[in-house]
Amino acid sequence: MIDRRKALSAGLVSMGAGAAFAQRKQLPPAPVKDGKSALTPDQALELLIAGNAAFLKDEIALPDVSAQRRLELAKAQAPFVAYVSCSDSRVPPELLFGRGLGELFIIRNAGNTVDTVAKGSLEFAVAKLGVPLVVVMGHEACGAVEAAMSVVEKNTRFPGAIDNMIEPIIPAVLEARGKPGNRVENAVKANVSRVVRVLRSESDPLMLKPQEAGKLKVIGAYYELKTGRVDFFDRG
Ligand SMILES: [Zn+2]
Repeated sequence: MIDRRKALSAGLVSMGAGAAFAQRKQLPPAPVKDGKSALTPDQALELLIAGNAAFLKDEIALPDVSAQRRLELAKAQAPFVAYVSCSDSRVPPELLFGRGLGELFIIRNAGNTVDTVAKGSLEFAVAKLGVPLVVVMGHEACGAVEAAMSVVEKNTRFPGAIDNMIEPIIPAVLEARGKPGNRVENAVKANVSRVVRVLRSESDPLMLKPQEAGKLKVIGAYYELKTGRVDFFDRG
């Protein structure tokens, strides 16, 4: 027999959660003009900062994921940010900024590095989709960066293709060596800065021209697991 008291309390709990859910504000999608994001690089960054501030206060708004929105997006996408982020399950960009369908164009791999395929994806986001902002984000206690540190400091070898995945992070580890402060954090930030530098200095006009015209910015970010805070740096 079902314990009535237990069933009641479970019902109350779910009603409570439902009420909290219903109280959340609805978030309109970021503005689009002529099929592309209508935001400047700085306006795009402001939306991310505001979204993360709401996330920190546990007041994140609900993005529009309705059937109508899906139908609208099936015709075309106009994201306002292209993101290079770590694959780490604790750092999903949409959730950290409370953004919805069709808004963030994301490249994720362990250690948030940019190889030829990632670079091509970013060029597509910029040239074809008109994204005004590229964010490269590292995070606290990144396992990929820690592995690269282990390669440098202990000559550790990893099986399979993991060594190849770690290799592009090694110059950042060497660059950050001996600096004061948290060693992993320093290496994570050096890795982000290196990727930002590479993307900014890319000679291909696909990335270069919009940066010169002020229509595109490439910036860095660091996510703190414990607090949920995203700090933007290398804002150029
Ligand atoms: Zn990571």
